Amino acid sequence: TAPAPQPLEVRDLTVRFAGLTALDKVSFTVAPGSIHAVIGPNGAGKSTCFNVLSGVYRASEGSVRLGEQELTRCSSNAIADLGVARTFQNIALSAHVTVADTLLLGRHRLTTSGFVATGLRLPSARREEALHRDRMREIAAFLGLEPYLAHPAGVLPYGLQKLVELGRALCMEPELLLLDEPIAGMTPSERQHTAGVISSVRDSLGISVLLVEHDMGVVMRLADTVTVLDFGRKIAEGTPAQVQNDPDVVRAYLGE
Ligand code: ADP
Ligand code: MG
Repeated sequence: TAPAPQPLEVRDLTVRFAGLTALDKVSFTVAPGSIHAVIGPNGAGKSTCFNVLSGVYRASEGSVRLGEQELTRCSSNAIADLGVARTFQNIALSAHVTVADTLLLGRHRLTTSGFVATGLRLPSARREEALHRDRMREIAAFLGLEPYLAHPAGVLPYGLQKLVELGRALCMEPELLLLDEPIAGMTPSERQHTAGVISSVRDSLGISVLLVEHDMGVVMRLADTVTVLDFGRKIAEGTPAQVQNDPDVVRAYLGE
């Protein structure tokens, strides 16, 4: 049986760059099975927060805990092993690798057969590979990517490439998925499809999502809880309806 999903607890997270505090004692909790959005005007610290949670930037102070695990001292690989998967913005998928193989990259972390067993294609390793392929196909079907499995990933339209990137992260079987502006650059119909996919990641797969997003409309539709940052500080938190009517939030966005 899978272990019970755990909250992600961000406490007094501070990140300083030379002469600039990009995040100043920010705290919030991502409840298991929820979509938690972090929003705010340009330069508010959203990507910095995302990069600390995924192990790309180091925190100057504060903590990030997934259950009992402290993430601020972990490498990005260790964070992925703990069940936190992220997608990459401006991804360059290869024109020489199929969608199927790109998705299977996400399953490497879960492969238990040793290098030698895999290399010699021993029966145990082949059985494991078949299970990974089955699961990869299920995830492709979930995303509507089945028709493209044999296509080179790098030549697909931008919106489909972003879905492949999301699929690669889902193939890691994460407990928590980190998405930085997942619908940026998409056409309206791609946005709508991707928003639907993100809500079924929560509803059907039970995976928690931390969403950093600029598009208020999508955040208001998808998020259970919204944390609003401005100049590195948390200025509001609540349901979409609550933060939307918060005078500090309105002021932060108008001042942009
Ligand atoms: P957002 O994603 O909300 O637009 P960022 O987290 O990218 O904001 O940036 C927050 C602030 O930190 C900005 O003033 C930005 O210039 C600064 N910043 C971000 N990354 C770095 C870095 N690697 N070095 C120096 N300053 C940075
Ligand atoms: Mg950003």
